[in-house]
Amino acid sequence: MIATHILGFPRMGAQRELKFALEAYWRGETQPSDLERVGRELRARHWALQREAGLDWVTVGDFAFYDHVANHIQLLGCEPARFAFRPETEELDRYFTLARGRAARGTEPGAAALEMTKWFDTNYHYLVPEWTPDTCFQLGSQRLFEEVAEAQALGHPVKVALLGPLTFLWLGKVRGPHFHRLSLLERLLPVYGQILARLKAMGVTWVQLDEPILGLELPPEWRQAFEPAYARLTGGPQLLLATYFSPLQDQLNLACRLPVQGLHIDAVRAPEEVATVADWLPAHKVLSLGLIDGRNIWRCNPDGVLETLGRLQAGPRRSLWLAPSCSLLHVPLDVTPETALDGEVKSWLAFAQQKLEELSLLATAMNQGEGAVAPGLAAARAAWASRQASSRVHQPWMGETLARITPAMGERQSPYPQRAALQASRLALPLFPTTTIGSFPQTKEIRHLRREFRAGHLGESAYREGIRQEIAYTVRTQEALGLDVLVHGEGERNDMVEYFGEQLEGFAFSGNGWVQSYGSRCVKPPILFGDVYRPRPMTVEWITYAASLTEKPMKGMLTGPVTILNWSFVRDDQPRAVTCRQIALAIREEVQDLEGAGIPIIQIDEAALREGLPLRRSAWQGYLDWAVDAYRLAANGVEDRTQIHTHMCYSEFNDIIAAIARMDADVITIETSRSHMELLEAFENFRYPNAIGPGVYDIHSPRIPTREAMEDLINRAAQRIPRERLWVNPDCGLKTRQWQEVLPALVNMVAAARELREQANTCPPQAS
Ligand code: GLN
Ligand code: ZN
Repeated sequence: MIATHILGFPRMGAQRELKFALEAYWRGETQPSDLERVGRELRARHWALQREAGLDWVTVGDFAFYDHVANHIQLLGCEPARFAFRPETEELDRYFTLARGRAARGTEPGAAALEMTKWFDTNYHYLVPEWTPDTCFQLGSQRLFEEVAEAQALGHPVKVALLGPLTFLWLGKVRGPHFHRLSLLERLLPVYGQILARLKAMGVTWVQLDEPILGLELPPEWRQAFEPAYARLTGGPQLLLATYFSPLQDQLNLACRLPVQGLHIDAVRAPEEVATVADWLPAHKVLSLGLIDGRNIWRCNPDGVLETLGRLQAGPRRSLWLAPSCSLLHVPLDVTPETALDGEVKSWLAFAQQKLEELSLLATAMNQGEGAVAPGLAAARAAWASRQASSRVHQPWMGETLARITPAMGERQSPYPQRAALQASRLALPLFPTTTIGSFPQTKEIRHLRREFRAGHLGESAYREGIRQEIAYTVRTQEALGLDVLVHGEGERNDMVEYFGEQLEGFAFSGNGWVQSYGSRCVKPPILFGDVYRPRPMTVEWITYAASLTEKPMKGMLTGPVTILNWSFVRDDQPRAVTCRQIALAIREEVQDLEGAGIPIIQIDEAALREGLPLRRSAWQGYLDWAVDAYRLAANGVEDRTQIHTHMCYSEFNDIIAAIARMDADVITIETSRSHMELLEAFENFRYPNAIGPGVYDIHSPRIPTREAMEDLINRAAQRIPRERLWVNPDCGLKTRQWQEVLPALVNMVAAARELREQANTCPPQAS
C-alpha cells in the first residue's frame, strides 16, 4: 500500500484570512484571542482538506503566525538575550517582537527585529535565529503540543513536522564574538529529545524532521555531526528525515544511513536519485517520494508518477509514501475559484488543494488499480497531454527564431572605453551625474487611476491622459530638482514583472494565487505557460512622451529577462535557460524600439539575478552563464552611442562580480547605502571596468539622508572607483515612498553631487 502525506501546507487561507487577521491585530484592533481563533480555524480547515483528499496523516507543526523558524525559536527556548524580555511578557508579544521589533499591543519597547533572509532558493523569507556562545535551549513553548492535541481532538491521525536540529543550527547566524555554531548541538539535542518524548506520550507515531541542508555542500564537520546526533534522537516516535530543493549527491549515502525510520527525497529536483535511493535505503525504512512538484503550479504527468511508483513496487518490498516534493507553502491554495483564467490554461494547473487530489488519485490508482479512479485518471492524462501539445504553448516558428541567436547578438559593437567616449559626447553629463532608479511615489491617485481602468470604470483615453499628467508632473519635478538623467516614473506599472508579463504572449495571471513571502506579505507570481514573444511595443509610448517634455536625457526603463523568469511560475517542459532566452528576445525588441525612438539611455533591471543561484555552489557557474547570456541578448543589441544601465537591489556581489562584469552594462546601479559602501570591497579585488552608481539614499527607510551623509558615501566610493565612473543615485525605486520624503532627499542628493563637482574642480583626480 502506498501512503500519502504532505510536508507542509499554505497558511494564509483562501481569502488570505491570516494576513488580514494579523494586520488587524498589529493595528491593535483585535485581541490575541481573535488571532488565535483565526489560526485555529485555518488549521482545522487545512487538516480537513488533507483528510478529505484521503491523505493518511494530517501534518501538524507547519502552521505559523509569522514564520515557522520563529516558531522553533520559541519552541526551543532560544529567544536572543538582547531582547531582554521580562518574565511576564506573553509568548505572542515576544513572538511579534522577534519578528517585527515590537509587540502588536505596543507595551514592549522596540528592539531591532530578527534579520530576515530567503528560505533556500525560494521567495519565502524566514527569521534568522541568533547564536552566541551563551545560547541555551529549553522547552520554551507549548504551542506545538496544543496544535497536536487540537488535531487529535478533531479525530485526525497526526504526523508532526519539525525542523531538524542541524538545519535549525545552520540557519542561524553567530552574533558577537566568533565561535562555531555547531558547538551548540550538544545543548540543543536534549531539548529535541524532550519534544520527541512528549509527542510520543501524546500518541504521535511519526515525526518528520526537515534537514534540507543535506542538499547543500556541507563542510565536513557538519556532515559528520548527523549520525551521532540522530543516534541520540531514537526511542521516540518514528522519524522521517525530509530533504528537499536539491539532489543529495555525495550526501545521499549519509541520508540513507541515518538511524531513522524513513527518508523523503525531492524527486522533482533529483529524479536521477530515485533509483539509487531505492537501492541504498535499507528495506525496513519508509521511502517517501516527492514526485508532485511543490514549487510549481502544473498538474503532474500521471503516467510519469505511476511508472516511477510501479518500478519501485516491483523492487524489494518496502513501505512507499507519495508526497509533494517539498512543503506546499510555495504554491497558492486553490485554483478552482480562478474563473477569469483562460479555461485551457486553468485545466493545466494544480495549486495546493489540487495537489492533495493528485496524491490521492495516484495512490488509489496504485493501491486499487486504475479502474478505481478511471475518470480522474483520464482527466489528469488529458490535461497533461493538452499542455504538451497545445498551440497556446508552442509557437511553430519559435525553434527557428531561437536557432538564429548568435553569440554576436550579445556583444556590444565596441569595448566600454570607446562606447563611453561616444556616449559622453552625446549626453554631455557632468561629473557625478545624478539619476534615480525608475519609479517615483505611487500615490493613492495613481493607484486609484489604474484600479478604475482595470475595473472598466475608466475609459482608455481618460486613463492615458491621467498617466500622461502623472508623467508630466514627474518630469517637471525632476527638472526642478536638477537631476541630470530623468525617468518617466513608472506610474503605469503596478509591478515590475506583472507589467511586462501582461503585455507579452505566454503569460497568464491568477486573481487570487497568493504565495507567502514573509509574515503577512504575499506575492502573486505570473504564470509563464508558453512560448514568450512580444506582440507590440510595451513602453515606447510612455517613454517617448516623457522624453518629449524635456531637453535632458530620458532613461527608458525595462525589466530584464532573468528577473521576469525568477519571479514567475515557469513552464517545466523545457529548460529555464530556453524560456529565459525567449524573454530576452522580447526585451531586446523593446530595447531596439526605444533606441529607434531616440531614447539615449535604457535601463534593464535585473533585481532577481542573484535569487536564481542554485543551492549548490558547484552549479552556480552554469546558471550564471545562461542568465548573463540572456541579459546580454536583451541589452546589447544597441549602437555604441546608446547607454545601457542595469540595476540590482542587493549588496552581496563578492561572489558573482565576474558575472556582473560580463553583463557589460555601461552603468550599474546597486544597493549600498545601508552597508555604508561595504559592498564596494567586491570592487577592490576585482576592478569593475564600467561605471557604477552605488546607492546613497536608503529608500527602505523613511529617514531623509542629509547632504553631508551622502557626500561622505560618495567620497568613500571614490576611494575605490575612479570618480569619472561614479554616478549618484538612490538604492532602488522610490515607488513605496511619499513625495514629501522623496523631494527633500533628492534635493540633498543633487546638492551633494554639486558639492563634489566643486571640490573636484579644485582638486585634480588621483591616479587610479
Ligand atoms: N525600476 C524599478 C523601480 O524603480 C526597479 C525596482 C527594483 O529594483 N526592485 O521601481
Ligand atoms: Zn532595486
